[in-house]
Amino acid sequence: MERHSGLEDHMNNIWFPRIKEVGAFWTHSGIASHPHIWTTLKNHSNEYFNGYVFGQNSPLLDEACKSLASFLVLRFPEILDVDRIIGPAMGAICIADGVARHLSNIRQKPCLSGFVEKEENNGKRRMVFKRMNIYHGETVLIVDNTINMGSSVHLTAEAVKEAGGRVLPVFGAIMNRSAVSIKTRIVSLAHIPATQWKPNKCPLCAKNSEVIEPQLPRNWKRLQGL
Ligand SMILES: [Zn+2]
Repeated sequence: MERHSGLEDHMNNIWFPRIKEVGAFWTHSGIASHPHIWTTLKNHSNEYFNGYVFGQNSPLLDEACKSLASFLVLRFPEILDVDRIIGPAMGAICIADGVARHLSNIRQKPCLSGFVEKEENNGKRRMVFKRMNIYHGETVLIVDNTINMGSSVHLTAEAVKEAGGRVLPVFGAIMNRSAVSIKTRIVSLAHIPATQWKPNKCPLCAKNSEVIEPQLPRNWKRLQGL
């Protein structure tokens, strides 16, 4: 498990309560008749951070992006020199835009933003620039709303490299759910390592709890109703 630095603990103590306060973090009640959830990696879990629910609160999201921009610069001053912030669509478009805007304010020089989108070819998933592109040689910082195992940010990094950009070995996120180091540096407002089980080892399935996809609005509503 990654160790928190004192500063990360401090940020977590500020931001995790706020995430819970706006209803963006769900935890299973422990009652077996209540459903539990799939994670993006098709494991099962008893908790979930919903970045869309967090991001719909525009002033809160803006404050989070400001805080994340400051925290990123504090931890890694080289971020002051990036040309652009990129996030994977859809969830991180607003994060990339917000962090770029606040980084521009901090350094008094514009920072561009942008996004990559999913593409699937013969079952192989990748990220590509579909509606925009970057300039050759740009230095890019990648951000996301949640980092789990890091697959989205790594695919985003591949897309940036393919487009001729240089990727900083630092990732920014609202929520870091990773339990182990992913051989890179993650700066996040909250760090709550995910509890995850393989479906055949899931204790909630063993108690006949139903498993549902949490991002579907009707399912999220159902989870909130419990
Ligand atoms: Zn399960």
